[in-house]
Amino acid sequence: MVLPFKHEPFTDFKVEENRKELESALRSVRTELGKDYPLVINGEKIYTEDKLVAINSANKEEIVGKVSKATKEHVEQAFEASVEAYETWRKVPVEDRAHVLFRAAAIVRRRKHEFSAWLIQDAGKPWDQADGDIAEGIDFLEYYGRQMLELDQGKHVEDRITEDNKYFYKAMGPGVVIPPWNFAFAIVCGTVAAPIVAGNPVLLKPSENTPVIAYKLVEVLEEAGLPKGVLNFVPGDPKEIGDYLVDHKDTHFINFTGSRATGVRIFERAAKIQEGQQHLKRVVAEMGGKDTIIVDETADLDLAAESIVHSAFGFSGQKCSACSRAIIHEDVYDEVIEKSVEIAKTLTVGNPSEENVYMASVINQTQFDKIKNYIEIGKEEGELVFGGETDDSKGFFIYPTIFKDLDPKARIMQEEIFGPVVAFAKAKDFDELLEIANNTEYGLTGAVISTNRANLERAREDFHVGNLYFNRGCTAAIVGYQPFGGFKMSGTDSKAGGPDYLQHFLEAKIVSEQF
Ligand code: GLU
Repeated sequence: MVLPFKHEPFTDFKVEENRKELESALRSVRTELGKDYPLVINGEKIYTEDKLVAINSANKEEIVGKVSKATKEHVEQAFEASVEAYETWRKVPVEDRAHVLFRAAAIVRRRKHEFSAWLIQDAGKPWDQADGDIAEGIDFLEYYGRQMLELDQGKHVEDRITEDNKYFYKAMGPGVVIPPWNFAFAIVCGTVAAPIVAGNPVLLKPSENTPVIAYKLVEVLEEAGLPKGVLNFVPGDPKEIGDYLVDHKDTHFINFTGSRATGVRIFERAAKIQEGQQHLKRVVAEMGGKDTIIVDETADLDLAAESIVHSAFGFSGQKCSACSRAIIHEDVYDEVIEKSVEIAKTLTVGNPSEENVYMASVINQTQFDKIKNYIEIGKEEGELVFGGETDDSKGFFIYPTIFKDLDPKARIMQEEIFGPVVAFAKAKDFDELLEIANNTEYGLTGAVISTNRANLERAREDFHVGNLYFNRGCTAAIVGYQPFGGFKMSGTDSKAGGPDYLQHFLEAKIVSEQF
């Protein structure tokens, strides 16, 4: 008997005992730093000379782990293993496939703080954010297991006298999963677990920034009983193996989350039929965002400032859902900025592997340089009202930064920064608030802070984003409650953690029998 889905609760680190448990997990993870990790192909662990070196972004000197790097030959072997595993895995009863996910969820739940500690080290996540990331991973496992059990019933189609019609879902074949580093457990877990529970073997190429926590997930799924060949772990240099994975004739789907540039490249390449390929590839691509919170003149201004600040600076704005634009009605513009600055002043910044801080470093040097450059652009385009400091002497630290008086078409109002930078702009009425909110090429998340019902209802129809929130921030979607995915150039609107997600990895079949 499978219990109904329940969202995994978050840990309250204000409670002494919880804090102690996490500190102890961090100490024990620290003794494991710097180890070597293998590729996993057909259940076999393969160590290569050449390694991806994962470092702690808050302390560049610290090596988190060295992960083996797959070459094209390894990827080829992984495809062979996946094609073979497909023939058996797709016929394993759904009940058993779902239970692999449920067991994996139980393992992670029991070792939650240890997993958070790895994430803190590998991705530089502050404690609450790491805990939320692990909880979301558990939710994906629990949710997709249940969803597959439900879909296994098929859907109703009509019978006729002497005709039996059965409509059901089947697996598609092996595919490739390319997840991001920003939800280095949750999104890896969700994007891998969904196609697998649907019956499809997977080649997983984790981000070069966070390969260690991804390996931990591979271990958990193995311990939970996933047969060999169903999940092949092929970390590597994207320039060397990225296109190869996408282009391969045996790739049936590509489940990608990451930048717009890479997503578009995958989408284009996947359209080309390769020699020996006998199917069309499916692409799930969740890409960037330029997410906006709009505040009208009827809003609770404290709530507005809280929502903007936490959506902009949580995990240093390194979420595709992060608020990077705040569009405010002119009557309350100055007040919302003042309140936001006051809250931003209280945020702590530091190394989360040492202390429970609100914000840590950004992921790597490239991102640090890019965000720093956008801060310079912001100084030209608007007025810096708070922050702007950066420091990469020890780790890649960028402090919370607020700009005001931006032209809606300014670069920092249009381009994804993926850092702790938020830009304010003013509008004269709700029409203009909405018009500015919709004026980017992205359409991922957004929020409206208002007590005016007519304005909220207008936004429901006309604010063009996949995840729209009223009177709260625009980040932190929860599996099963707020399925996640965006419109326009934000991607294919796959709605991760929602009731339609598994369909991306299934084919519907009808069998009609006359008697
Ligand atoms: N699902 C996350 C949220 O709602 C964002 C995921 C992402 O950044 O890719 O905040």
